[in-house]
Amino acid sequence: MNIEAFFKITYGLYIVSSGNKDNKSGYIANTAFQVTAEPPQVAIACNKDNYTAILIDKNKAFSISILKQEASPEIIGKFGYKSGKDIDKFVDSNFVVGSTGIPIVTDESIAWFECKLVNQFDVGTHIIYIGEIINNELLVADGNPLTYDYYRNVKKGKAPKNAPTYIKPVTETKPEKISDLGPKYQCMVCDYIYDPAEGDPDGGIAPGTPFEDIPDGWVCPVCGAEKSDFEVIE
Ligand code: FE
Repeated sequence: MNIEAFFKITYGLYIVSSGNKDNKSGYIANTAFQVTAEPPQVAIACNKDNYTAILIDKNKAFSISILKQEASPEIIGKFGYKSGKDIDKFVDSNFVVGSTGIPIVTDESIAWFECKLVNQFDVGTHIIYIGEIINNELLVADGNPLTYDYYRNVKKGKAPKNAPTYIKPVTETKPEKISDLGPKYQCMVCDYIYDPAEGDPDGGIAPGTPFEDIPDGWVCPVCGAEKSDFEVIE
C-alpha cells in the first residue's frame, strides 16, 4: 500500500458537534461532504471512540462548522486533540444553538449546517452518519475554507489518531545531525516536529532558532500545546 497516494484525496476541515444544553461536544473532522441535493444531505465519518458519536446517537442531530483557512492552532488543539470526556470544549467557544437543541460552533468558521440524523452505517472503527440539512448559515461570504492539504503542508498538521485518515507514525527515524542548531523536538500532543533550521516564522520564531531559545510563551503551531509538551527526538 502506498501511503502517499492517500494524501492525494482532498478534504476540508470541519468541527462536527452534537449534544444538548447540559452535555455537548465536538471534534475536528475531515470527512464531511454533501451526498445529495434533493433533499440536501451530508455524510460524516465519526470514530466510535469520539464522545460526539455517543451524543449524535442520543440527540439524533449534528452540526458541521466549516473552519476558515486561518483557523488557529488553539481551536484545532481544543477540538482535535482533546476529548469531550475530559473537558467541556464549549466553555470558552462561541456557538449558537440549533432548532434541534444541538450546539453549532461559530468560532473561526465561515459557514455551518445543522443536520437531522436520517441514517447511519457501521463501518468498523467509524460510523458513517447521514444527516439532512435543516438549517445553515453563511458567516463569511468571501472566506476561504481550510483544506486538509493546506493543514498538512502549510500548517504542518497531522491527523489526530481518531481521524479516518490517521496513519500510524513509523517509528521516528533518527534525525540527521544538525550541527549548531541542536536537535529537533516533537510535540507530544499532535506529533508536530519543530525543526530549528525551519523555525516557526508564523509563530515569530526565525529559521535557525534552537528549540532552547524559543520564548516560553510560544505554543505548538498545530495544536496550541505549550513548549513544555515537547520532547527531544533522539
Ligand atoms: Fe502540537
